[in-house]
Formats: sequence, structure tokens, C-alpha cells
Amino acid sequence: MMQYYKACKRELWFFANQINMNYEDENISIGKLLHETSYPNERKNIIIDDTIAIDFIKKEGEQLIFEVKKSSKLKIPTLYQIYYYLWYLKNKKGINIKGAIVYPKEKRREEISLTPEIEKEIEFIVQDIPKILEQKTPPKAENKKYCKRCSYYEFCMV
Ligand code: SF4
Repeated sequence: MMQYYKACKRELWFFANQINMNYEDENISIGKLLHETSYPNERKNIIIDDTIAIDFIKKEGEQLIFEVKKSSKLKIPTLYQIYYYLWYLKNKKGINIKGAIVYPKEKRREEISLTPEIEKEIEFIVQDIPKILEQKTPPKAENKKYCKRCSYYEFCMV
């Protein structure tokens, strides 16, 4: 939900209300395949409290949580997904840890850590998401850079 919040609040509302268009989405299938075939030696999909699902955890000097992504095109929503994981682990589990997003196809990675400003923003978003979900109708469609690759594109824009 954190990712949807940063990408599009309307998409967040659709997702939360189970109005789902993703079943045939090729990007999702490719993402799943990449997730299954990358980093074969790591224990994957570590679910904590039915709330966060970490792709894998690895010690590289210090422990890091890793998120595997197909491409860096949805950079900000992905960043906030990891920020939320780090925030959750710190505030709900007392675990101070850093994270990394890896893009196997682009052969690069990006290390992520919390700042006081980001923590404040995450706290605000955590309060704001339920307010959006309580709305009887979805937020209005606004044409934004995410729309063209969004599974709701035809529903919103055509
Ligand atoms: S098409 Fe655009 S406005 Fe509609 S849900 Fe997707 S990102 Fe949001």
C-alpha cells in the first residue's frame, strides 16, 4: 500500500477495494520470474507479522534487507516500500537495519537507510492511508507519469 500511496492514491483505493486488473499483466509475471530465479542461494520472501514481505536478508558486514526489482522505473514507490520495511522493523520490532534495492537486469543496487525526515513522513502516510481507504469512492484520476504503465489505465483514461 505504501508503494501505491506514492504512485497513485486512486490505484491504492482500487487495490484495497479488490478492484484488480493485474491478472494478465506481463510485467508482473516477469517480476515474479526474476524474483524466483535471482539470488538462488538466499532464503526468500521473509514475511513478518503478515505485514511486510522482505525478499531476502543478507549479511554484508552488517545485515541488510534486500528488495529485488525488475527495473528502476518506479523508483520512488519502491523506495518508500523499503523505507516502510525499515520503519516497521525499527518501530515495531526494535531492529535498526539498512536496506538495498537490487536491479539484476540493470546490474545495479541502491542502498537505503532511514532519516528522521523520512521516518516522520512514513508516520504521516501510515495515518493517511486508512483515511483514503475509508472514502466511499476512489480519488479522482489524474494523468501522471505512472498512468501509461498502470493496469487501470484504460479504466481511468480511455
Ligand atoms: S491510470 Fe493513473 S490515475 Fe488511474 S489508477 Fe493508474 S496511475 Fe492512478
